[in-house]
Amino acid sequence: MNPNFEFEHRDWEAFHQKAFFIDMHAHPTFPASFFPPIRLLPFFPSYRHANQCDLDNLPSPRGYRGSTIFKFRTAFPLLQAGGADVVLTNAVVPEDDFLGAFLGSRGNLRRVARLPLLAYVYKQYLSHSYFQATLNMLEAIATEVDEFNRFADEMNRTTATKRRLVEIVHSVKRLKEIKALNGERPIALVHAVEGAHSLQGHKAGKGIRKYQNYHGTGQLEKEDEVRQEILDNLHTLCERGVACITVAHFYPNVVAAPCFPYPDYALGELDFLGNSEKEQIHHNLALGLTSIGREIIKEILRLGMLVDVSHCTPRARASIYEIADEIDVEYQVVATHVGAYAVNPSPYNLEDWEIEWIARKKGIVGVILMPFWTQPHNRVMGVDFLSRTIEHIRQVGGDNVIAIGTDFDGATDPPDELAHYGQIPRLTERLMAEQFRKQNKYSDELIMKILGGNAWSVLENGWRYGCGP
Ligand SMILES: [Zn+2]
Repeated sequence: MNPNFEFEHRDWEAFHQKAFFIDMHAHPTFPASFFPPIRLLPFFPSYRHANQCDLDNLPSPRGYRGSTIFKFRTAFPLLQAGGADVVLTNAVVPEDDFLGAFLGSRGNLRRVARLPLLAYVYKQYLSHSYFQATLNMLEAIATEVDEFNRFADEMNRTTATKRRLVEIVHSVKRLKEIKALNGERPIALVHAVEGAHSLQGHKAGKGIRKYQNYHGTGQLEKEDEVRQEILDNLHTLCERGVACITVAHFYPNVVAAPCFPYPDYALGELDFLGNSEKEQIHHNLALGLTSIGREIIKEILRLGMLVDVSHCTPRARASIYEIADEIDVEYQVVATHVGAYAVNPSPYNLEDWEIEWIARKKGIVGVILMPFWTQPHNRVMGVDFLSRTIEHIRQVGGDNVIAIGTDFDGATDPPDELAHYGQIPRLTERLMAEQFRKQNKYSDELIMKILGGNAWSVLENGWRYGCGP
């Protein structure tokens, strides 16, 4: 008998749809926030109506491989096609220095902001404090969900196509109710925030250079006032249902410092003004957490939210583990969208001792669907290294630590075979191929854990806000 017979005859798609799929890190909030005006243009399929085939035909500026914000990989019909059950949807406010790097100065930003589409983005987000912009993004995704549900309701009543509704879930209590529903479950979106700069209001300001110094030996002006503002804003986000904070993002912020955050080839594409060398200088792996940062991490953990170490420098990550050890928390420290250092030695990726530490503390390591991070950079892009990364994390941290964080719609460059949510079942196909290849080392049970079981235990036990003392 053909040895591939058993694998070829497993219904991986049905298996995938049966799994409770959790994505620990994606960005439906991003297109929902930035593209309301773009959706009105005829050549962009509407975010809420987009389907697989639309996406394959979207224009890619300058033939770019796919790391573009103009692809709506997490459109709600695609989440349905991909069998998504819970998606942590990240609000991410562009940092001023990011814009500065590509536009030269705030003066240019104001000039560009007169362009019709950008005027909207400027007015809603860039002209505000990071914190206010974050709140506006939480509003934007809520509006998107309402509009979609109206459309889906109508469609369900009048056509044979059945659309799953989408719900923004603000507590783990509601999440459990949804999980218990059989059959007609809404897709649950859970708020998350990427970059602790989102906590910076007018007092903390946007002075990233200032924070760069502060990470070193520098004193922060009006430190007490800034600290109070950050704590107040953290409490507000927590009350609004934000479950997880990725503390670092692109530039040093009031809490933590990041690794260099984007692929050099992407930088080349974006570097209109030739500033990329200058950019690299501002990323310093010797930086870690600020003194306020240590306090903020403790408060996030005390409140019952998840702390995501993705993007942090190795030094900042080590400090977060130390703090979590000190106050002895479990389920709350996670890496939502990373690779493994042993597979691809980039400081962005977790070293083996970190994977072990997170596993011991019952957290998860969410594997990012982006070859640039999962594989050494001189290889052909594909899913091979994705399974290699998953297998490595399993070997080091055991069966209960692996999860998935697609980072879709975070302007990433996913594997060609997994270019949007509609293709996520292929991940399950891949895991089942491993199951076959490794003679059942990948049991059905383990695959279910990777697809969502492990992430569920983190949400169920780690996201405690609103569940009493
Ligand atoms: Zn990220």
